[in-house]
Amino acid sequence: MKTIRDFDLSGKKVIIRVDYNVPMKDGVILDDNRIISSLKTVKYAIDNNAKVILLSHMGRIKTEEDKINNSLKPVSVRLSELLNMPVKFVPETRGIELEKAISNMNPKDVILVENTRFEDLNEKAESSNSEELGKYWASLGEIFINDAFATSHRSHASNVGIAKYLPSGIGFLIEEELKALDIDNCDRPLTIILGGAKVSDKIGLINNLALKADNILIGGGMAYTFIKASGLEIGKSLLDVDSIEFAKEMLEKYKDKIVLPIDSVNRDSKGVIRTCFINEIKEDETGYDIGIQTVKLFKNYLLDSKTIIWNRPVGMFEESPFDKGTKEICNILKDINVKKIAGGGDTASAIINLGYKEIFTHISTGGGASLELLEGKKLPGVIYEEENN
Ligand code: ADP
Ligand code: MG
Repeated sequence: MKTIRDFDLSGKKVIIRVDYNVPMKDGVILDDNRIISSLKTVKYAIDNNAKVILLSHMGRIKTEEDKINNSLKPVSVRLSELLNMPVKFVPETRGIELEKAISNMNPKDVILVENTRFEDLNEKAESSNSEELGKYWASLGEIFINDAFATSHRSHASNVGIAKYLPSGIGFLIEEELKALDIDNCDRPLTIILGGAKVSDKIGLINNLALKADNILIGGGMAYTFIKASGLEIGKSLLDVDSIEFAKEMLEKYKDKIVLPIDSVNRDSKGVIRTCFINEIKEDETGYDIGIQTVKLFKNYLLDSKTIIWNRPVGMFEESPFDKGTKEICNILKDINVKKIAGGGDTASAIINLGYKEIFTHISTGGGASLELLEGKKLPGVIYEEENN
């Protein structure tokens, strides 16, 4: 696997696939984290005299109307501010204007091409990795760098497609993500905090983590399926019926590793909220968070860990007071000085919304991609075929 450092970029047309899929409303960028995350690679290319051609997708494009709210033009403005230099926006994904803009480039120039998914109106050319489109985009450059971690678990024309035709490598963001989420080579003990709603879509994840982690602390909606599997009643709490057998198997096989909640914060049908021991959940109650005894129990494991990876909130953090467990875990982590990684997607938004961004060593920029890495899968956007490198 090559990185951007392995190439001589000087004077070369370098296509960088970045992730500028930022939340946007009425043309205003709500959160520019993803743009900021790309700067290290983009600046490196500029500093090394490359002609920088940036490609990114934004949102999903199914109709002509979808194009109106998903143009990357506002991103080019923000990027230009952050780089403190002009960024030329090209309002098309292929054609004369794009080709001319590229042939007029000087070293250190930066071009941002329009949303790659506009090509999805052309028989999903981008998302289905049309050979023709990947080849066309590759023809515009000389070197390809993929740094869009959040889409690297997908084979699209703008990553896998281009890489097939150009000498290719990864940028600093993907390199950092791969290192952060490398559970095969990390300091131990490795403790995983798992939360979120459903078990069924995390079976691959739990299987792999059970093999590789030292402790798995389970909270969130998912915990109740495990608690049910251990023979206790969970009232109206979230239950993934199809996963009970799996949960039972896991509990038997990995009883030394899996740690379940010992208390639960519930709400009944009248709206009454109370905390109880895990074997005292009433028929009419729904568990929405881990209780303080569970927080203390989890703390013991966290204090002994050398690497901590957190995937998904341990309670219904969108609604107070059920955000308390997730907040308390953040407070514990704040005082622990080891490698602390937060998964992407909901985990990242929970942590950032609750104001705990700074306490983490790394917050992943990709939900699906980080999940696939933790499942032990290889990312198609990262593993390039040898002969092209
Ligand atoms: P999904 O399977 O819908 O993608 P996730 O696995 O991404 O869900 O988990 C995130 C969601 O889990 C959050 O919206 C959070 O509110 C929810 N959640 C966490 N704990 C609970 C719980 N005890 N009961 C119901 N939902 C919960
Ligand atoms: Mg989700």
